[in-house]
Amino acid sequence: MSVIGEIKERIDIVELVSNYVSLQKAGRNFRALCPFHVEKHPSFFVFPERQSWRCFGACNTGGDVFSFLMKKEGIDFGQTLRFLAEKTGVSLVLEKDQGEVERGKEARLFEINEIAAEYYHHLLMTASEANSVRKYLKQRGLLPQTIKNFQLGFSLDEWEALLRYLTSKGYSFEELLMAGLVIEKEGGGGYDRFRNRLMFPIRNIQGRLAGFGARALDDSVPKYLNSPQTPVFDKSSIVYGIDRAKVAIWQRNSVVIVEGYMDVLIAHQHGCENVVASMGTSLTEKQFGVLKRLTKNLFLALDADTAGEEATLRSIEVAGQTLDKKVVPVPIWSGLIKYENILDADIRIIILPPGKDPDEVIREDISLWQDLVDKALPVVDFVMNAIISRVNVEQARDKSAAWSKLKPLISEIKDPVRQSHYLQKLARLLKMNERVLASDLRSSYAKKRRSRITGETEESLAVVPSLPSSSPLEEYCLTLLLQYPEFRAISGELRPEYFQHTENRELFVKWQQGVELTSFEANLDAPLREHADRLLNRVLPATLTQREEERWYVLNDCSLRLQERWLRNLEAEREEILLLETEKSDATAQLAKLEEQGIDVSLRLKEIFSQRDINAKQRRARG
Ligand SMILES: [Zn+2]
Repeated sequence: MSVIGEIKERIDIVELVSNYVSLQKAGRNFRALCPFHVEKHPSFFVFPERQSWRCFGACNTGGDVFSFLMKKEGIDFGQTLRFLAEKTGVSLVLEKDQGEVERGKEARLFEINEIAAEYYHHLLMTASEANSVRKYLKQRGLLPQTIKNFQLGFSLDEWEALLRYLTSKGYSFEELLMAGLVIEKEGGGGYDRFRNRLMFPIRNIQGRLAGFGARALDDSVPKYLNSPQTPVFDKSSIVYGIDRAKVAIWQRNSVVIVEGYMDVLIAHQHGCENVVASMGTSLTEKQFGVLKRLTKNLFLALDADTAGEEATLRSIEVAGQTLDKKVVPVPIWSGLIKYENILDADIRIIILPPGKDPDEVIREDISLWQDLVDKALPVVDFVMNAIISRVNVEQARDKSAAWSKLKPLISEIKDPVRQSHYLQKLARLLKMNERVLASDLRSSYAKKRRSRITGETEESLAVVPSLPSSSPLEEYCLTLLLQYPEFRAISGELRPEYFQHTENRELFVKWQQGVELTSFEANLDAPLREHADRLLNRVLPATLTQREEERWYVLNDCSLRLQERWLRNLEAEREEILLLETEKSDATAQLAKLEEQGIDVSLRLKEIFSQRDINAKQRRARG
């Protein structure tokens, strides 16, 4: 983790701000008289869950822990960094030398993997031992170009073939061991891990070869074998095909997650290039993290048979935990909806015909596949169907059980129109009066609100103050800006406050001021320079580096999404305060005040959506 990220993880905004002002608990949040302007009634709030602060009064501004200190102490980012580093015991000295040794080792492992992949690929294409494998791949419908693109390979049915080959290339036994390509024997020496298998090289999002998946070609168990955990291969954080899918995921703003390597190959061959596979049946938290950086529209396509259905449920459990863990500790399904609310993510379930894998469906009928993707069910519908199909709606007891399972899910839906849609649907399915369900929902809201006001519920105790230590969207936008300074002329839409993380805001402001890149870097504090370096060296997809108009569209979209997020946060903070105020008599006054000084958030959001839409249409028109 970066130094800045580490500092953020160790500091709690409530604790820090309370050194300066006397904070009072207000529901889940804290309020105080604003330290930046003179006022009689407190309009300064601290939001522990977001680790942010905002003054709704004369200042009408907010930020994170860094910006609070900078404003309060009148110091710059570098000074703030040093102050917080000392306070949290994080060393500002970059362990550069140490880091370089590690990076050197990793580079060597990537290199070994590349050579092994070339070796396996060569065998698959030419060795007589691979005749039957080539036939098998042809039967599965793979074209030679796909085999080449994904660099599929074949490992000989021998104990030391790769070991001998790589040793002759000058790699040590220890290095091969570390790369996970050989297994150590008890009496010393070793043998090849992968024998008589179809080899799938697995690349990380940067396209570097991290490890291998291998399918047995005989009755060997396990049928699928992966590289072990190595310094460059972490099975739980890699999704297969991401290196070739990332551009399409970004462009189409959606990702389809399937189970098998073959599904990915066939999908890509048929032009569905935004398809990746989980490494095993259920998705992990880290895998979601990787995908989240590219899109918020996730489609899960998993087997429809019983095992598959179970896997689907499991995957969603992981999704729920991942996407939600840091925000609220709630039951999984509703957690997922909460995530959809907060980050505007959309998770849908593709339901495959019974007994069919995605690769079969795609090969047999690509239009059917498209249809299935188009008809993928939003999580709520999927869960609703899954639960209702398991109960007898003629039985009172079953009805009640189904409702109690679905209530938490529906109560999390913030959009009143969507919520009412699902209430209606559920009432119909359960053969119940919708008003009964709605009133039960309202009473549980009231209960929740009361407990929020008293601030003594399990929920509020369990909330862990934690903000993601970085923002992929902000970083992606900055990467584009830093790598293409010519954008300065057209970046007028972007404003510093759209960047919530102060380190990003700082970089943006410096960039905006037109500081030359060389002096720009030299003038930064070490941790900020490290951060800028990372962004400057980030590899962008070829479609972006080669096509100027594509870059423009992507930047424009980033800019709109940043603005959208900023507005949504603003709105969320306001809502929380309104929720507090409704319990008091001056509710209407406060509401009026907020609206008067505020901007029409929903109108602005609508504008953003239509701009994004126009942007996307123009982009498609240009091809
Ligand atoms: Zn203020």
